[in-house]
Amino acid sequence: MKQLMVFDLDGTLAKSKAPLGVGMGRLLGRLLSVARVAIISGGTWTQFQKQLLPYLPTDDRLKRLSMLPTTGTRFLQYDGQWRVLYAEDFTAAEKKKIVTSLDTAFDQSGFRPAKHWGELIEDRGSQITLSALGQEAPLTEKKAWDPDFAKRKKIKAILDPLLPDFSVTLGGATSIDITRPGVDKAYGIHKLKLELDIPIARMLFVGDALFPGGNDHPARTTGVECIEVRDPLETEHVIRAFIAAAP
Ligand SMILES: [Mg+2]
Repeated sequence: MKQLMVFDLDGTLAKSKAPLGVGMGRLLGRLLSVARVAIISGGTWTQFQKQLLPYLPTDDRLKRLSMLPTTGTRFLQYDGQWRVLYAEDFTAAEKKKIVTSLDTAFDQSGFRPAKHWGELIEDRGSQITLSALGQEAPLTEKKAWDPDFAKRKKIKAILDPLLPDFSVTLGGATSIDITRPGVDKAYGIHKLKLELDIPIARMLFVGDALFPGGNDHPARTTGVECIEVRDPLETEHVIRAFIAAAP
């Protein structure tokens, strides 16, 4: 029996940047009664708070939930309130280099859109994220922009040689995430192992981008058992099956 279920957030538990919703919130509450749960995503803690907290149970079950925003460079655990166990951020010089390179690659790719909604590049402390249509873009626009990741794969090909000392991954619907090398879902899974003292063999990872180049793919390198889902609806089926199989 697996002890810990680890979820990607956007595209897995919720639609990109969308609220978790009452149904999924209740289901996670039931899951927390039979297993530990961790949520790891490129999103910030602020984003987690907006997207997740209103829909989660508010009782002691939360103590079995680990939150790993910005791909596990922050780790929060609940003990009556959410506490940061650790946080790891970029230096000012690193940030400048990353932002300049993102701008260059976006322009060279030819995919910079004529119209965008909100900030294109967001500083998340330990992660810098390009949202190709802007942070506030409507979901319909975002979903239509790069459904097969083809545009972002081309931008990544330009970006990789510009940022040899950093890691470039594709996630969400329109995002490219820059982190320190080694800061990816695998990093998060190792942090979970360390902080929670749970062997990787007792974890189950669920994500929508487990294909090569996807931001969930590095999880596979840890040897964690992975389930690839198409969308939150499929994730619900996975959770229900897990709960049904629990002793
Ligand atoms: Mg995802």
